[in-house]
Amino acid sequence: MYQKKYYSDFEAKKLICEIGKRVYQKNFVAANDGNISVRVGSNTIWTTPTGVSKGFMTPDMMVKMDLDGKVIAGKNKPSSEVKMHLRVYRESPETNAVVHAHPPIATSYAIAGINLEKPVSPEAVVLLGRVPVAPYATPSTEEVPDSITPFIKDHHAVLLANHGALTWGRDLIEAYYRMESLEHYALMLTYSTNILNKANELNCNQISDLVDMRNKMGIKTGGVPPCDISNQPAPATASKEAIIQEIVEKVTKRVLDHLQQGGRV
Ligand SMILES: [Zn+2]
Repeated sequence: MYQKKYYSDFEAKKLICEIGKRVYQKNFVAANDGNISVRVGSNTIWTTPTGVSKGFMTPDMMVKMDLDGKVIAGKNKPSSEVKMHLRVYRESPETNAVVHAHPPIATSYAIAGINLEKPVSPEAVVLLGRVPVAPYATPSTEEVPDSITPFIKDHHAVLLANHGALTWGRDLIEAYYRMESLEHYALMLTYSTNILNKANELNCNQISDLVDMRNKMGIKTGGVPPCDISNQPAPATASKEAIIQEIVEKVTKRVLDHLQQGGRV
């Protein structure tokens, strides 16, 4: 079972810089885009400052805030997009980290208004579940946190219409990996659907097994991707053969019994 443990201030600031580098090097953000935060107490977080590239941050740039949005420590201003982070922490007590980025392929789905939910990969079902598109909201306004609120409790990743993606988790590595998985899944889906023009979907039983697996990992969020009820494996032919075999044996036995008793067929 997952053990809840808050990062220390030192760990949180250092880890945010490390994850910032990965987010930048992976091309999940351009220029000063994106923001990252980590919870260090029930009502306090460390987050990235406004106007700084995520690839070139140092721990002294970080901002400490309470969940009401008040700055407690740090010389910089937080990003205006921190509002959606604060909303996630308030709605989901088990969340200890939030990552916001603009990964280009997943964001293209957000621009197209297409949910990332096609069940084509077991990893995507286990790690992401279904990723809905939250309605468009004007950046930096309260509309942004309001647009994601309906999805916070049941999901841990959401696409922001015409904007980007938001992932959250029980620690920063989990939240970041969800962003990485999201972009990877969006890439595979794009290749299979739009280049190969064929994407075989997992059936309802396969999805249900994967969701059971996810539950056993202690992950209760993510939602269940939709499945096509007609996309079921063909009934096993072995059972059909077994029935025919049984009938043949019964008929043969009756004929033999009949002959042994001197009857004629
Ligand atoms: Zn953004």
